[in-house]
Amino acid sequence: MSIIQIEHLIKRFAGVIALDDVSFAVDEGSIHAVIGPNGSGKTTLFNIISGVYRATAGSVVFDGEPIQGLRPFQIVRRGLSRTFQHPRLFGSMTVIEQLIVALHPSKLWEFDKQSEQIAREKLNLVGLEHVADIPAASLPQGQRRLLEIARALCLEPRVLLLDEPHAGLNPVETEQLMVLIRKINQQGITILLVEHEMRVVMTLANKITVLNFGRLLAVGSPQEIQNNPEVITAYLGV
Ligand code: ADP
Repeated sequence: MSIIQIEHLIKRFAGVIALDDVSFAVDEGSIHAVIGPNGSGKTTLFNIISGVYRATAGSVVFDGEPIQGLRPFQIVRRGLSRTFQHPRLFGSMTVIEQLIVALHPSKLWEFDKQSEQIAREKLNLVGLEHVADIPAASLPQGQRRLLEIARALCLEPRVLLLDEPHAGLNPVETEQLMVLIRKINQQGITILLVEHEMRVVMTLANKITVLNFGRLLAVGSPQEIQNNPEVITAYLGV
């Protein structure tokens, strides 16, 4: 049973076709990775799914309903939330305040015990409870990445979109993040991630979509993708 269906998606920027008739489905409850060389359209795809960009043509169906053309906040409300490659942290707020703002964007001063409880629960899940009350801006990169995930989880998504979650992390942090992604997935949350680290993709993903020059090159299990001659050619550039 698929939770997201991408159907004949096309995105043109002036003179550039970033996505060229891309179709694939994400199974509910799976960890699905999108890979491809630089410039293959991965970020554009994420931006269309999350409502940051409008598709030129084609559709994105989430839980049986088309969502293309909806605003980002409407898509989040339906149960699809995302992280960004370069998370934006608000000024001098503490870690816990950052999460409470995610729950109540316009009225931090009115936050109630319940939102604080949800925020603390998500901090525990990502393992940041010990830094709850320090300024978020002072967190090192690895912990910022975890905070970004906690923030997306506060919105209680059914699908979590992760944009290169492992970029810039050291090997220990990479390993911890893989464990966390599995844990989140085991809570029933479908994960769709763009990822460069091939080892991460092959270890974590149930299914992989490969893009190349905006086109769908292949969709399959890690084993199928690893043995696909076209994928090997695209990556080795031969
Ligand atoms: P990836 O994430 O796989 O590196 P992108 O989705 O960022 O690929 O880019 C796909 C193509 O679309 C590239 O040729 C890129 O230059 C182009 N592109 C992406 N965003 C824009 C934009 N806002 N304006 C113009 N061209 C863009």
